[in-house]
Amino acid sequence: MTADQLAVLCRRLADDTDAVRTSPEAGALAESIACRVRDGTPLDELGDDLDALEMLLLRAGHAAGLSPARSYARFPGAGDGHRVLEVLACPTGVCARVEAPGAEPVFCVALRQPMVVTRLRS
Ligand SMILES: [Zn+2]
Repeated sequence: MTADQLAVLCRRLADDTDAVRTSPEAGALAESIACRVRDGTPLDELGDDLDALEMLLLRAGHAAGLSPARSYARFPGAGDGHRVLEVLACPTGVCARVEAPGAEPVFCVALRQPMVVTRLRS
């Protein structure tokens, strides 16, 4: 499991309508993975569980798995011609999720930490 895969999982956990929240089986496994991340389990020891979660989602008919490509495709504010100079990032650096800063605080769901404004080097 990579930080990018965790970022995808983190963003999906933040979405109440996502299958990782609405499917009890997938939800329990996703929360179990996030719990072990918070306990400091190295991500590379969680690969099997992530594969199992992905299989659950695919078997349940949710086409998009946990491919990291999705996290970039959905990155808000990217690709609109404006350069993003500040992003919200997980303070621990374990989770690679980034979000555009806004009025509302954003939590890293995987780590249960508020995401912090991070300046991108230009
Ligand atoms: Zn996160």
